[in-house]
Amino acid sequence: MDFELSEEQRAVKAAVRQFITKEVAPLEPTVLLNEREGRPGIDRETLRDLQAKARKYGYWGINTPEEYGGMEAGPVMAAIIAGEAGRTFVPFRFGGSADNILYAGNEEQKQEYLVPTIEGDRRSCFAITEPGAGSDARNIRTRAVRDGDDWVINGEKIFITNGNEADFVMVFAVTNPELGANGGVTCFLADRDMGWESTPIPTMGEWGPASLSFQDVRVPHRNILGEEGRGFELAMQWIGQGRFMIPAGALGAAERMIEMAIEHANNRESMGHPIAEYQAIQWHIADSAVELEAARWLTLRAAWQVERGEDARHSSSIAKLYGTTMANRVVDRVLQIHGGMGYTKELPIERWYRELRLLRIFEGTDEIQRRTIARNLLRGHAKVGASLS
Ligand SMILES: Cc1cc2nc3c(=O)[nH]c(=O)nc-3n(C[C@H](O)[C@H](O)[C@H](O)COP(=O)(O)OP(=O)(O)OC[C@H]3O[C@@H](n4cnc5c(N)ncnc54)[C@H](O)[C@@H]3O)c2cc1C
Repeated sequence: MDFELSEEQRAVKAAVRQFITKEVAPLEPTVLLNEREGRPGIDRETLRDLQAKARKYGYWGINTPEEYGGMEAGPVMAAIIAGEAGRTFVPFRFGGSADNILYAGNEEQKQEYLVPTIEGDRRSCFAITEPGAGSDARNIRTRAVRDGDDWVINGEKIFITNGNEADFVMVFAVTNPELGANGGVTCFLADRDMGWESTPIPTMGEWGPASLSFQDVRVPHRNILGEEGRGFELAMQWIGQGRFMIPAGALGAAERMIEMAIEHANNRESMGHPIAEYQAIQWHIADSAVELEAARWLTLRAAWQVERGEDARHSSSIAKLYGTTMANRVVDRVLQIHGGMGYTKELPIERWYRELRLLRIFEGTDEIQRRTIARNLLRGHAKVGASLS
């Protein structure tokens, strides 16, 4: 058993820490100001400049195969990098990536959709959720009907990340109602100018999704992504493959907030003593640090299993459930330690309080992760303690 990071992993972690601290975190006051004044945290141009700078450091396409110009860093390294990037709430992400399922496209589709997305010239969104089908994604109703060389799509999608900015969507529609999710759902690449429309949905965080409306949208047959009828498997591949990346980002946020809490507790005096001397505050800090460490190992282990090509669905569900609820508990305690200041928009805690809440909802809610974990155990697909056998 070896809990040490390799020399390369330590070097990358330190370099990303430096980049985030030097280039990205200084934008935090601007992000808070922009948000207060109703603008996006950072505009697209600033984001692209930052991504170009990161590219010069060599950080581009973290998960993208080398043949497409990426780092192909591997899941463990990607989790380490996400943890460092998560130390700031600036909505920054490294450039050079595209949704994993776009690699399922044929050569023509790769040139038209995958490559420009990696380069940042096109923006995608992924649309499976509907007003009547969220956790129950097998129950989608958006319908695609064949008409000559085209498919005609009708339906509504909801909560689609980037839905208002994207110029194409990977949309999932029922092509064979009898089969439904068991071979009757197909994924289509639909350009915005094929006629779908979007409406932004205001939310408590900056992660503003959109609803998408499809009314007789004609999509050519050649725009099917993957195989006709095999869309549901593609959707599950999109959702499942990087699940450990969600808690990975939350680790950085929790780490930074605990550091803030320690500093504040040592400096803030109440009733003649630094609040750090009161057990009530110490327990908040201790519990947060313990849970952060637990979440770190769960997340890295899930990433490690993916890296080894093992079935990591069970460990990824455990990591997502624990890591995201941990981050929500930590932000609540850290806000409490800061008292009234924690509640203001002067500090990042209030923003994190809102942003981190989402992690318990998308890509499988807490309840769905628990359901998966329990079903795996009850049906014998996973064993208690199997990580050591
Ligand atoms: C900001 C944001 C961005 C998103 N981005 C995307 C995107 O890009 N693409 C996309 O397709 N979707 C996206 N989603 C949708 C997201 O995946 C769904 O919101 C999520 O899966 C939950 O579905 P729902 O909202 O319909 O809730 P519901 O499924 O209606 O669930 C309501 C409650 O019931 C619980 N519940 C449901 N079924 C069960 C069950 N069987 N057992 C126990 N409890 C259950 C849930 O856990 C939840 O607490 C996004 C959502 C948000 C909020």
